[in-house]
Amino acid sequence: MASDLVIVYHRQPYEEVEENGKIVFRENKSPNGIVPTLKSFFGDVDHGAWIAWKLAEDTSNPDFEQVVEINDAYGTYSVSRLPLSKEQVHEFYHVTSKEAFWPILHSFRERYNYDPVDWPNFREVNWRFAEAAAAEAAPGALVWVHDYNLWLVPGYLRQMRPDVRIAFFHHTPFPSADVFNMLPWRREIVESLLKCDDVGFHIPRYAANFVSVAQSLLDVDVTERVSVRDHLTFEGTALNERVVPTKLRHAGRDVAVSVSPVGVNVEFIEARAHAAETVARAQKIREDLGDAQLIVSVGRTDYTKGGITQLESFERLLEANPQFIGKLRLMHVSVSANRGMAAYGQIQSDLEQTAGRINGRFGTLDWQPVALISQAIPFDDLIAYYRAADVAWITPLADGMNLVAKEFVASRVDGDGVLVLSEFAGAAVELSSAVIANPHSNKSMDNAIHDALVMAREERQGRMTNLRDAVRRYDVKSWGNAVRDALHAAPAAIEPERPAA
Ligand code: UDP
Repeated sequence: MASDLVIVYHRQPYEEVEENGKIVFRENKSPNGIVPTLKSFFGDVDHGAWIAWKLAEDTSNPDFEQVVEINDAYGTYSVSRLPLSKEQVHEFYHVTSKEAFWPILHSFRERYNYDPVDWPNFREVNWRFAEAAAAEAAPGALVWVHDYNLWLVPGYLRQMRPDVRIAFFHHTPFPSADVFNMLPWRREIVESLLKCDDVGFHIPRYAANFVSVAQSLLDVDVTERVSVRDHLTFEGTALNERVVPTKLRHAGRDVAVSVSPVGVNVEFIEARAHAAETVARAQKIREDLGDAQLIVSVGRTDYTKGGITQLESFERLLEANPQFIGKLRLMHVSVSANRGMAAYGQIQSDLEQTAGRINGRFGTLDWQPVALISQAIPFDDLIAYYRAADVAWITPLADGMNLVAKEFVASRVDGDGVLVLSEFAGAAVELSSAVIANPHSNKSMDNAIHDALVMAREERQGRMTNLRDAVRRYDVKSWGNAVRDALHAAPAAIEPERPAA
């Protein structure tokens, strides 16, 4: 059945599990995160479709079931899974996306490596995503493509289906032209994105960067600019923008550029934070700490997350403030998402070495200043730690948004706790009551964590009230609504015929 809405997202929208020898599709365990929000869009249409990839031992196996029909709480939709071989996934995902695009998106020039990129494979995978979307889309349907590993899909899809509306959302930062233009395929990527009706970003800076990249490569006019909404400005911080381009004209087509910061499911997190077992868990964590303060830091093991920088700042804090010795613990959760990639293995071993050194220098038999945790913590448990913590210390060197910062705030139903946040996390432009740190400056890092630990209750609570308002303002539902509005407002795909001159 043809679909009015086609979501193209590399991950599948459910968990595939085996029960009594049969494969069954189950809701993803965590109702937090972006997948349930994307699925909620299926409630707006008669029939939807989702395009993802799936690892296949033999990609030409005729028994591989490519399209499955799902009927769940979100509606009726088909899921089209592209069979990709292990090698294709490796090339497409680990090499091109993670070794070439990821460092560029986060402005880590020195990490960038394009020599091993198999560009024809990247094109082919994107072409297949576009073909699958074209096969599912009803006439005039909306096709919503997600993230940089599918950058070429809009261009291919426009060739196959000039009738559909195409929207694209970036979940990462978008760098300035100086950095983006290091990609040899820059023009091809931008030409593809300009075939969209709407290109979406988390914050105004990323939208502005995209437009300046597009103008550096192609003939693109900005036909509308607006002042950035007050709630998305934080004067003086690194990612602040005052004005943002919202409409472009290129090759006879209008392209909208939209900004909608993704949020968290505040209602769900608050309910979990209020749950008796979470309260009891948080109390137990506090009892075990005695009179020590707890700092939590949660993220993936990735150079963009700045884990080593943070541990080094913690070491200097203990060095300069002996009063904290025995009275402070740092729970540093750093979970590997890309096992097997050399760059990530190195970071893991650097983290272990630095944490080990700090514990060796300052620890005793009864007290270890750093608890380095490398295994994922279930979301419910995280909420208990967030509730028990004095400070959440979230200091990525670059981060598209950072949901952990917002989850911490949403968990603080008690209205207390301090958020120390990097000014290079997209969330910083919304969370102007956080204690802001620049992770590229030792002084700024050290002062921020020190100020947070000694902050008076009244100031903590005042800041937390503002933070909670901000996190509610752009929660995951309002993200969904903002995106819906942008998609409805996006210009029609086919330009009306122009009268002959
Ligand atoms: N997370 C988790 N357990 C962990 C570490 C992280 O459930 O041990 C979740 C966290 O709650 C958040 C997500 O992983 O929802 C990380 O999202 P974020 O935007 O902060 O960073 P990303 O990994 O997308 O760059």
